[in-house]
Amino acid sequence: MSDLHDLYQEVILDHNRSPRNFGTLEPARTQQGHNPLCGDRLTLYLRVEGDRIADVRFVGTGCAISKASASMMTEAVKGRTLAEAHALFDAFHEMLTADGATGPDEDLVARLGKLAVFQGVSEYPTRVKCATLAWHTLQAALVDTPAVVSTESET
Ligand code: ZN
Repeated sequence: MSDLHDLYQEVILDHNRSPRNFGTLEPARTQQGHNPLCGDRLTLYLRVEGDRIADVRFVGTGCAISKASASMMTEAVKGRTLAEAHALFDAFHEMLTADGATGPDEDLVARLGKLAVFQGVSEYPTRVKCATLAWHTLQAALVDTPAVVSTESET
C-alpha cells in the first residue's frame, strides 16, 4: 500500500513540477477559481467547438495537489464532449467524497483512469477542495458563469 502511495505521490509531484496545458489561450472563455482554505487560485481558459472541448489551458498558483489536479483535469477533458466532461467531473467528485469506510466503487475508479491517483486525497477533507478546485472551475466555465468560483461561500 505504501508503494502505491509513493506512485500516486510521484504522479502528483510530476504534474506539479511540469503542469500540462499550462498557459493562456485566446480567444477563450475564462473562468477563475479560488480555494480560500489553502490559497489556491487558478484561471481556466476554455475553447468549446460544437459540443466538444477543443482546447483548455490554465494558469495559477497553489499547492501541489491543486496544480497537479488542474494539469490532469485539462489532459482528461481535452477533446472530450461536454457530456463526457460532466460525467468525469461527477465520477471524480464521487471518488473524493466517497464514504471512508467502504471507499469508492471500483468501477468508478477504473473509469477515472489516471485521475484515480487522487483517491488518497479523500482521506484529507481539507485537501479534497484543492483537488476539486479545477473541476469546479471547469463546471463554471462550461455554463459561462461570470463570477469567480470559490470552494467556500464568500457571501
Ligand atoms: Zn491547495
